[in-house]
Amino acid sequence: MPDTKDILREALANLRPAGLDAPLADCLVWAAESDGFVSLKLCTPTLDTPEPRTEAAHAAREAVALTLAEVGSVPLRSLIVEFVDNAGTVLQTERLGPGASDNPDPTLRIASASASTDHKKTSQDADAEHREASDQAPACASSPQPTPSQPTGHQPIGGLSDPNPLDTIKHIIAVGAGKGGVGKSTIAVNLAVGLAKKGHAVGLLDGDIYGPSLPTMLGLDALEQNVVAGKLQPHAVHGIKAITIGKLVDPDKPLIWRGPMAHGAFKQLIEQSDWGELDYLIIDLPPGTGDVCLTLAQTLQCTGAVIVCTPQKVAQDDAVRAANMFTSLKIDVLGVIENMSYFIGDDGKEYDIFGRGGAEMMAQRIGLPFLGCVPINMALRANSDTGEPLKNFTPETAGGEALPAAIDKLITTLDGQVALASIKQGASKPTLSVS
Ligand code: ADP
Repeated sequence: MPDTKDILREALANLRPAGLDAPLADCLVWAAESDGFVSLKLCTPTLDTPEPRTEAAHAAREAVALTLAEVGSVPLRSLIVEFVDNAGTVLQTERLGPGASDNPDPTLRIASASASTDHKKTSQDADAEHREASDQAPACASSPQPTPSQPTGHQPIGGLSDPNPLDTIKHIIAVGAGKGGVGKSTIAVNLAVGLAKKGHAVGLLDGDIYGPSLPTMLGLDALEQNVVAGKLQPHAVHGIKAITIGKLVDPDKPLIWRGPMAHGAFKQLIEQSDWGELDYLIIDLPPGTGDVCLTLAQTLQCTGAVIVCTPQKVAQDDAVRAANMFTSLKIDVLGVIENMSYFIGDDGKEYDIFGRGGAEMMAQRIGLPFLGCVPINMALRANSDTGEPLKNFTPETAGGEALPAAIDKLITTLDGQVALASIKQGASKPTLSVS
Protein backbone atom coordinates (compact mmCIF):
# COMPACT_ATOMS: atom_id res chain seq x y z
CA MET A 1 0.00 0.00 0.00
CA PRO A 2 1.67 3.25 -1.06
CA ASP A 3 2.26 6.00 1.47
CA THR A 4 -0.37 8.80 1.66
CA LYS A 5 2.21 11.38 0.68
CA ASP A 6 3.19 9.32 -2.40
CA ILE A 7 -0.44 9.03 -3.48
CA LEU A 8 -0.99 12.75 -3.13
CA ARG A 9 2.35 13.54 -4.79
CA GLU A 10 1.26 11.42 -7.74
CA ALA A 11 -1.98 13.40 -7.88
CA LEU A 12 -0.03 16.61 -8.22
CA ALA A 13 2.65 15.26 -10.58
CA ASN A 14 1.14 16.57 -13.80
CA LEU A 15 -0.04 19.91 -12.48
CA ARG A 16 1.87 23.03 -13.35
CA PRO A 17 -0.38 26.02 -12.66
CA ALA A 18 0.49 29.32 -14.34
CA GLY A 19 3.37 31.06 -12.63
CA LEU A 20 4.93 27.87 -11.34
CA ASP A 21 8.24 26.69 -12.74
CA ALA A 22 7.91 23.10 -11.46
CA PRO A 23 5.10 20.55 -11.12
CA LEU A 24 3.04 21.03 -7.97
CA ALA A 25 4.32 17.65 -6.75
CA ASP A 26 7.83 19.11 -6.41
CA CYS A 27 6.43 21.81 -4.11
CA LEU A 28 4.80 19.35 -1.70
CA VAL A 29 6.44 19.54 1.72
CA TRP A 30 3.78 17.78 3.79
CA ALA A 31 0.58 15.81 3.19
CA ALA A 32 -2.02 13.91 5.19
CA GLU A 33 -5.31 12.21 4.45
CA SER A 34 -7.88 10.89 6.92
CA ASP A 35 -11.31 9.67 5.90
CA GLY A 36 -11.49 11.97 2.85
CA PHE A 37 -10.12 15.01 4.69
CA VAL A 38 -6.87 16.02 3.04
CA SER A 39 -4.31 18.54 4.15
CA LEU A 40 -1.38 19.67 1.97
CA LYS A 41 1.48 22.05 2.55
CA LEU A 42 3.06 23.56 -0.56
CA CYS A 43 6.17 25.67 -0.87
CA THR A 44 5.72 27.69 -4.05
CA PRO A 45 8.12 30.68 -4.01
CA THR A 46 7.21 31.76 -7.54
CA LEU A 47 3.51 32.08 -6.67
CA ASP A 48 3.95 35.31 -4.75
CA THR A 49 0.39 36.73 -4.79
CA PRO A 50 -2.91 35.32 -3.47
CA GLU A 51 -4.73 34.76 -6.79
CA PRO A 52 -2.38 32.25 -8.43
CA ARG A 53 -2.15 30.37 -5.13
CA THR A 54 -5.95 30.13 -4.97
CA GLU A 55 -5.98 28.84 -8.56
CA ALA A 56 -3.28 26.31 -7.76
CA ALA A 57 -5.30 25.11 -4.74
CA HIS A 58 -8.40 24.61 -6.89
CA ALA A 59 -6.38 22.68 -9.47
CA ALA A 60 -4.95 20.55 -6.67
CA ARG A 61 -8.45 19.82 -5.40
CA GLU A 62 -9.54 18.41 -8.76
CA ALA A 63 -6.46 16.25 -9.03
CA VAL A 64 -6.64 14.99 -5.44
CA ALA A 65 -10.36 14.17 -5.79
CA LEU A 66 -9.67 12.15 -8.94
CA THR A 67 -6.77 10.28 -7.43
CA LEU A 68 -8.61 9.42 -4.21
CA ALA A 69 -11.48 8.05 -6.27
CA GLU A 70 -9.04 6.01 -8.41
CA VAL A 71 -7.25 4.37 -5.49
CA GLY A 72 -10.65 3.25 -4.18
CA SER A 73 -10.43 5.38 -1.09
CA VAL A 74 -13.22 7.55 0.33
CA PRO A 75 -14.26 10.55 -1.78
CA LEU A 76 -12.59 13.86 -1.12
CA ARG A 77 -14.60 15.68 1.55
CA SER A 78 -12.40 18.63 2.33
CA LEU A 79 -9.01 19.95 1.26
CA ILE A 80 -6.86 22.39 3.20
CA VAL A 81 -3.89 23.76 1.29
CA GLU A 82 -1.31 25.82 3.10
CA PHE A 83 1.24 27.78 1.09
CA VAL A 84 4.46 28.22 3.04
CA ASP A 85 7.76 29.99 2.42
CA ASN A 86 11.16 28.31 2.65
CA ALA A 87 11.22 28.87 6.43
CA GLY A 88 7.87 27.09 6.80
CA THR A 89 5.87 30.24 7.62
CA VAL A 90 2.30 29.94 6.38
CA LEU A 91 1.61 32.63 3.76
CA GLN A 92 -1.88 31.64 2.71
CA THR A 93 -4.43 28.98 3.60
CA GLU A 94 -7.09 27.73 1.21
CA ARG A 95 -9.92 25.61 2.60
CA LEU A 96 -11.80 23.83 -0.14
CA GLY A 97 -14.37 21.13 -0.23
CA PRO A 98 -17.13 20.02 -2.53
CA GLY A 99 -19.20 23.20 -2.75
CA ALA A 100 -16.94 25.00 -0.28
CA SER A 101 -16.57 28.05 -2.47
CA ASP A 102 -20.36 28.55 -2.42
CA ASN A 103 -20.42 27.99 1.30
CA PRO A 104 -17.72 30.08 2.83
CA ASP A 105 -16.50 29.13 6.25
CA PRO A 106 -19.20 30.37 8.61
CA THR A 107 -17.76 31.48 11.85
CA LEU A 108 -19.13 31.57 15.32
CA ARG A 109 -17.95 35.19 15.31
CA ILE A 110 -17.93 35.13 19.06
CA ALA A 111 -17.25 38.84 19.43
CA SER A 112 -15.23 41.55 17.80
CA ALA A 113 -11.59 40.93 18.61
CA SER A 114 -11.22 44.60 19.44
CA ALA A 115 -14.03 44.60 22.03
CA SER A 116 -12.52 45.58 25.32
CA THR A 117 -15.50 45.88 27.63
CA ASP A 118 -17.17 43.00 29.41
CA HIS A 119 -20.16 41.71 27.53
CA LYS A 120 -22.72 39.21 28.66
CA LYS A 121 -23.77 37.10 25.74
CA THR A 122 -26.78 34.84 25.62
CA SER A 123 -26.95 31.74 23.50
CA GLN A 124 -29.46 33.60 21.29
CA ASP A 125 -26.88 36.34 20.64
CA ALA A 126 -24.35 33.77 19.62
CA ASP A 127 -26.82 31.95 17.46
CA ALA A 128 -27.82 35.15 15.70
CA GLU A 129 -24.16 35.81 14.97
CA HIS A 130 -23.77 32.27 13.84
CA ARG A 131 -26.64 32.66 11.38
CA GLU A 132 -25.14 35.75 9.84
CA ALA A 133 -22.25 33.67 8.60
CA SER A 134 -20.05 35.86 6.50
CA ASP A 135 -17.49 35.49 3.74
CA GLN A 136 -14.71 36.38 6.11
CA ALA A 137 -12.17 33.89 7.31
CA PRO A 138 -12.57 33.00 10.98
CA ALA A 139 -11.52 35.90 13.17
CA CYS A 140 -8.89 33.72 14.72
CA ALA A 141 -7.27 32.79 11.44
CA SER A 142 -5.15 35.88 11.11
CA SER A 143 -4.37 36.63 14.74
CA PRO A 144 -1.54 34.33 15.79
CA GLN A 145 1.89 35.67 14.95
CA PRO A 146 4.47 33.22 13.61
CA THR A 147 6.54 31.79 16.44
CA PRO A 148 9.32 29.24 16.26
CA SER A 149 8.11 25.65 16.39
CA GLN A 150 8.81 23.68 19.53
CA PRO A 151 11.03 20.68 19.11
CA THR A 152 9.17 18.21 21.30
CA GLY A 153 6.17 15.89 21.07
CA HIS A 154 3.29 16.07 18.67
CA GLN A 155 3.67 19.11 16.46
CA PRO A 156 0.59 20.61 14.85
CA ILE A 157 0.55 19.27 11.35
CA GLY A 158 0.75 21.84 8.64
CA GLY A 159 0.75 24.65 11.18
CA LEU A 160 4.29 25.75 11.83
CA SER A 161 3.11 29.34 12.17
CA ASP A 162 1.28 28.64 15.43
CA PRO A 163 2.75 25.62 17.21
CA ASN A 164 0.41 25.80 20.18
CA PRO A 165 -2.09 28.62 20.59
CA LEU A 166 -2.78 27.29 24.10
CA ASP A 167 0.72 27.62 25.49
CA THR A 168 -0.51 28.25 29.06
CA ILE A 169 -1.67 24.63 29.19
CA LYS A 170 0.73 21.85 30.19
CA HIS A 171 -1.08 18.84 28.77
CA ILE A 172 -3.76 18.66 26.11
CA ILE A 173 -5.55 15.32 25.97
CA ALA A 174 -8.11 14.47 23.32
CA VAL A 175 -10.81 11.95 24.19
CA GLY A 176 -12.05 10.19 21.08
CA ALA A 177 -14.09 7.17 20.09
CA GLY A 178 -14.74 5.47 16.82
CA LYS A 179 -18.43 5.10 17.63
CA GLY A 180 -21.06 7.41 19.09
CA GLY A 181 -22.86 6.44 22.28
CA VAL A 182 -19.98 4.49 23.84
CA GLY A 183 -19.66 6.96 26.72
CA LYS A 184 -16.91 9.22 25.37
CA SER A 185 -18.37 12.42 26.85
CA THR A 186 -19.16 10.66 30.13
CA ILE A 187 -15.56 9.52 30.41
CA ALA A 188 -14.20 12.94 29.37
CA VAL A 189 -16.26 14.64 32.11
CA ASN A 190 -15.19 12.16 34.77
CA LEU A 191 -11.53 12.25 33.77
CA ALA A 192 -11.60 16.05 34.00
CA VAL A 193 -13.39 16.16 37.37
CA GLY A 194 -11.25 13.29 38.71
CA LEU A 195 -8.00 14.99 37.70
CA ALA A 196 -9.23 18.20 39.35
CA LYS A 197 -10.05 16.29 42.54
CA LYS A 198 -6.41 15.17 42.60
CA GLY A 199 -5.35 18.82 42.73
CA HIS A 200 -4.73 19.59 39.05
CA ALA A 201 -6.02 22.72 37.31
CA VAL A 202 -8.25 21.25 34.60
CA GLY A 203 -10.22 22.56 31.64
CA LEU A 204 -12.78 20.61 29.62
CA LEU A 205 -13.61 21.61 26.05
CA ASP A 206 -16.71 20.12 24.45
CA GLY A 207 -15.42 19.69 20.92
CA ASP A 208 -18.29 17.38 19.98
CA ILE A 209 -19.71 20.03 17.69
CA TYR A 210 -22.29 17.63 16.26
CA GLY A 211 -23.84 16.64 19.58
CA PRO A 212 -22.53 18.64 22.54
CA SER A 213 -23.37 16.87 25.82
CA LEU A 214 -21.64 19.11 28.33
CA PRO A 215 -24.54 21.52 28.95
CA THR A 216 -26.47 18.55 30.37
CA MET A 217 -23.63 16.56 31.90
CA LEU A 218 -22.23 19.59 33.73
CA GLY A 219 -25.60 21.24 34.46
CA LEU A 220 -24.80 24.40 32.49
CA ASP A 221 -28.33 25.07 31.27
CA ALA A 222 -29.02 28.02 33.56
CA LEU A 223 -25.63 29.64 32.95
CA GLU A 224 -24.89 32.28 30.34
CA GLN A 225 -21.78 32.29 28.19
CA ASN A 226 -19.68 35.32 29.06
CA VAL A 227 -17.35 36.91 26.54
CA VAL A 228 -14.65 39.31 27.65
CA ALA A 229 -12.51 41.14 25.12
CA GLY A 230 -13.54 38.70 22.40
CA LYS A 231 -12.66 35.63 24.48
CA LEU A 232 -15.07 33.00 25.74
CA GLN A 233 -14.88 32.74 29.51
CA PRO A 234 -15.02 29.13 30.73
CA HIS A 235 -17.71 28.13 33.22
CA ALA A 236 -16.19 27.33 36.62
CA VAL A 237 -18.15 24.25 37.71
CA HIS A 238 -17.45 21.08 39.73
CA GLY A 239 -13.83 22.15 40.28
CA ILE A 240 -13.03 22.48 36.56
CA LYS A 241 -13.31 25.11 33.81
CA ALA A 242 -15.59 24.15 30.93
CA ILE A 243 -16.53 25.46 27.52
CA THR A 244 -19.03 23.94 25.15
CA ILE A 245 -20.32 24.89 21.74
CA GLY A 246 -23.68 23.84 23.15
CA LYS A 247 -23.90 27.24 24.87
CA LEU A 248 -23.36 29.07 21.57
CA VAL A 249 -26.02 27.46 19.43
CA ASP A 250 -29.72 26.74 19.71
CA PRO A 251 -29.94 23.55 21.79
CA ASP A 252 -32.95 22.24 19.86
CA LYS A 253 -31.58 22.67 16.35
CA PRO A 254 -29.60 19.93 14.63
CA LEU A 255 -25.98 20.94 14.18
CA ILE A 256 -25.11 20.32 10.55
CA TRP A 257 -21.60 21.26 9.62
CA ARG A 258 -19.80 20.81 6.34
CA GLY A 259 -16.12 19.91 6.69
CA PRO A 260 -14.75 23.46 6.35
CA MET A 261 -17.48 24.83 8.65
CA ALA A 262 -16.63 22.27 11.32
CA HIS A 263 -12.97 23.18 10.94
CA GLY A 264 -13.71 26.89 11.47
CA ALA A 265 -16.04 26.37 14.42
CA PHE A 266 -13.71 24.04 16.28
CA LYS A 267 -10.67 26.24 15.58
CA GLN A 268 -12.48 29.22 17.04
CA LEU A 269 -13.47 27.30 20.13
CA ILE A 270 -9.83 26.39 20.62
CA GLU A 271 -8.35 29.78 19.91
CA GLN A 272 -10.94 32.11 21.41
CA SER A 273 -11.38 30.53 24.83
CA ASP A 274 -9.73 32.15 27.81
CA TRP A 275 -8.36 29.16 29.74
CA GLY A 276 -5.56 30.77 31.70
CA GLU A 277 -3.00 28.43 33.27
CA LEU A 278 -4.03 24.77 33.24
CA ASP A 279 -2.33 21.46 34.02
CA TYR A 280 -4.74 19.58 31.78
CA LEU A 281 -7.13 20.46 28.99
CA ILE A 282 -9.41 17.52 28.17
CA ILE A 283 -11.03 17.79 24.74
CA ASP A 284 -14.17 15.76 24.09
CA LEU A 285 -13.99 15.05 20.33
CA PRO A 286 -16.89 14.08 18.08
CA PRO A 287 -17.11 10.35 17.36
CA GLY A 288 -15.43 9.08 14.23
CA THR A 289 -12.41 10.08 12.26
CA GLY A 290 -13.43 13.33 10.63
CA ASP A 291 -12.64 16.96 10.17
CA VAL A 292 -12.49 18.05 13.82
CA CYS A 293 -9.74 15.53 14.56
CA LEU A 294 -7.74 16.83 11.62
CA THR A 295 -8.21 20.41 12.84
CA LEU A 296 -7.09 19.36 16.31
CA ALA A 297 -3.93 17.85 14.89
CA GLN A 298 -3.29 20.90 12.74
CA THR A 299 -3.84 23.45 15.47
CA LEU A 300 -2.66 22.10 18.77
CA GLN A 301 0.33 20.39 20.26
CA CYS A 302 -1.38 17.49 22.01
CA THR A 303 0.18 15.32 24.68
CA GLY A 304 -1.94 12.48 23.39
CA ALA A 305 -5.34 10.93 22.85
CA VAL A 306 -7.45 8.52 24.86
CA ILE A 307 -9.83 6.16 23.07
CA VAL A 308 -13.10 5.12 24.68
CA CYS A 309 -14.57 1.83 23.54
CA THR A 310 -17.23 -0.60 24.69
CA PRO A 311 -16.37 -4.31 24.64
CA GLN A 312 -18.37 -5.26 21.51
CA LYS A 313 -16.67 -6.13 18.22
CA VAL A 314 -18.39 -3.32 16.31
CA ALA A 315 -17.12 -0.74 18.79
CA GLN A 316 -13.64 -2.26 18.70
CA ASP A 317 -13.49 -2.04 14.91
CA ASP A 318 -14.29 1.67 15.01
CA ALA A 319 -11.87 2.23 17.88
CA VAL A 320 -9.07 0.66 15.83
CA ARG A 321 -9.87 3.09 13.02
CA ALA A 322 -9.75 5.98 15.50
CA ALA A 323 -6.39 4.76 16.83
CA ASN A 324 -5.00 4.55 13.29
CA MET A 325 -6.26 8.05 12.59
CA PHE A 326 -4.48 9.48 15.66
CA THR A 327 -1.31 7.67 14.67
CA SER A 328 -1.50 9.02 11.12
CA LEU A 329 -2.02 12.50 12.56
CA LYS A 330 1.10 11.94 14.71
CA ILE A 331 -0.83 12.15 17.98
CA ASP A 332 0.28 9.58 20.58
CA VAL A 333 -2.48 7.29 21.79
CA LEU A 334 -2.12 7.27 25.58
CA GLY A 335 -4.43 4.32 25.95
CA VAL A 336 -7.83 2.67 25.64
CA ILE A 337 -10.64 2.82 28.20
CA GLU A 338 -13.27 0.10 28.21
CA ASN A 339 -16.61 1.65 29.15
CA MET A 340 -19.77 -0.29 30.00
CA SER A 341 -17.44 -3.18 30.68
CA TYR A 342 -19.82 -5.13 32.91
CA PHE A 343 -22.88 -4.56 35.10
CA ILE A 344 -23.21 -5.16 38.83
CA GLY A 345 -26.73 -6.42 39.63
CA ASP A 346 -28.67 -5.87 42.83
CA ASP A 347 -27.56 -9.39 43.79
CA GLY A 348 -23.97 -8.08 43.81
CA LYS A 349 -23.02 -10.31 40.86
CA GLU A 350 -21.10 -8.96 37.87
CA TYR A 351 -22.79 -9.54 34.50
CA ASP A 352 -20.74 -9.33 31.31
CA ILE A 353 -23.48 -7.89 29.15
CA PHE A 354 -21.32 -6.71 26.24
CA GLY A 355 -18.45 -9.19 26.61
CA ARG A 356 -16.12 -7.78 29.25
CA GLY A 357 -12.50 -7.51 28.22
CA GLY A 358 -13.16 -7.00 24.50
CA ALA A 359 -11.67 -3.51 24.38
CA GLU A 360 -8.73 -4.59 26.53
CA MET A 361 -7.94 -7.41 24.12
CA MET A 362 -8.24 -5.02 21.20
CA ALA A 363 -5.77 -2.68 22.91
CA GLN A 364 -3.34 -5.55 23.43
CA ARG A 365 -3.77 -6.71 19.84
CA ILE A 366 -2.82 -3.35 18.37
CA GLY A 367 -0.18 -2.60 20.99
CA LEU A 368 -1.85 0.20 22.93
CA PRO A 369 -1.80 0.68 26.71
CA PHE A 370 -5.01 -0.26 28.50
CA LEU A 371 -6.02 2.41 30.99
CA GLY A 372 -8.85 0.55 32.73
CA CYS A 373 -12.55 -0.12 32.63
CA VAL A 374 -15.76 1.46 33.91
CA PRO A 375 -18.82 -0.70 34.68
CA ILE A 376 -22.36 0.04 33.55
CA ASN A 377 -23.68 1.99 36.48
CA MET A 378 -27.15 3.45 36.91
CA ALA A 379 -25.93 6.22 39.22
CA LEU A 380 -23.38 7.30 36.58
CA ARG A 381 -26.16 7.65 34.03
CA ALA A 382 -28.39 9.51 36.49
CA ASN A 383 -25.61 11.83 37.70
CA SER A 384 -24.79 12.61 34.04
CA ASP A 385 -28.42 13.42 33.28
CA THR A 386 -28.68 15.75 36.28
CA GLY A 387 -25.30 17.38 35.69
CA GLU A 388 -23.75 16.31 39.00
CA PRO A 389 -20.49 14.52 38.15
CA LEU A 390 -18.99 14.98 41.63
CA LYS A 391 -21.52 12.44 42.90
CA ASN A 392 -19.68 9.74 40.92
CA PHE A 393 -16.79 10.01 43.35
CA THR A 394 -18.55 9.05 46.60
CA PRO A 395 -19.90 5.52 47.13
CA GLU A 396 -23.16 6.80 48.68
CA THR A 397 -24.18 8.60 45.48
CA ALA A 398 -22.31 6.43 43.00
CA GLY A 399 -24.14 3.16 43.55
CA GLY A 400 -21.35 1.67 45.66
CA GLU A 401 -17.57 1.43 45.63
CA ALA A 402 -17.12 0.08 42.10
CA LEU A 403 -17.54 3.32 40.16
CA PRO A 404 -15.37 5.64 42.30
CA ALA A 405 -12.70 2.93 42.44
CA ALA A 406 -12.80 2.43 38.66
CA ILE A 407 -12.53 6.16 37.91
CA ASP A 408 -9.74 6.58 40.45
CA LYS A 409 -7.79 3.77 38.80
CA LEU A 410 -8.29 5.36 35.37
CA ILE A 411 -7.02 8.72 36.58
CA THR A 412 -3.92 7.20 38.17
CA THR A 413 -3.08 5.20 35.04
CA LEU A 414 -3.72 8.16 32.77
CA ASP A 415 -1.54 10.41 34.94
CA GLY A 416 1.23 7.83 34.56
CA GLN A 417 0.82 7.60 30.78
CA VAL A 418 0.91 11.39 30.51
CA ALA A 419 4.14 11.46 32.53
CA LEU A 420 5.62 8.79 30.23
CA ALA A 421 4.50 10.64 27.11
CA SER A 422 5.99 13.88 28.44
CA ILE A 423 9.33 12.16 29.02
CA LYS A 424 9.20 10.58 25.55
CA GLN A 425 8.33 13.92 24.00
CA GLY A 426 11.11 15.66 25.91
CA ALA A 427 8.76 17.90 27.87
CA SER A 428 10.04 16.60 31.21
CA LYS A 429 12.92 14.50 32.45
CA PRO A 430 12.70 11.34 34.56
CA THR A 431 13.77 11.97 38.14
CA LEU A 432 15.62 9.62 40.44
CA SER A 433 15.47 10.42 44.13
CA VAL A 434 17.99 8.77 46.45
CA SER A 435 17.33 8.81 50.18
P1 ADP B 1 -20.83 9.44 23.60
O1 ADP B 1 -20.15 10.69 24.07
O2 ADP B 1 -19.86 8.35 23.27
O3 ADP B 1 -21.84 9.65 22.53
P2 ADP B 1 -22.21 9.58 26.15
O4 ADP B 1 -21.07 9.84 27.09
O5 ADP B 1 -23.06 10.73 25.75
O6 ADP B 1 -21.65 8.84 24.85
O7 ADP B 1 -23.07 8.41 26.80
C1 ADP B 1 -24.27 7.98 26.21
C2 ADP B 1 -25.26 7.61 27.33
O8 ADP B 1 -24.78 6.48 28.04
C3 ADP B 1 -25.45 8.72 28.36
O9 ADP B 1 -26.78 8.74 28.77
C4 ADP B 1 -24.58 8.29 29.53
O10 ADP B 1 -25.06 8.77 30.77
C5 ADP B 1 -24.68 6.78 29.43
N1 ADP B 1 -23.50 6.09 29.94
C6 ADP B 1 -22.22 6.21 29.48
N2 ADP B 1 -21.39 5.40 30.16
C7 ADP B 1 -22.17 4.76 31.07
C8 ADP B 1 -21.90 3.77 32.07
N3 ADP B 1 -20.68 3.28 32.26
N4 ADP B 1 -22.95 3.35 32.82
C9 ADP B 1 -24.20 3.83 32.64
N5 ADP B 1 -24.52 4.73 31.71
C10 ADP B 1 -23.51 5.20 30.93
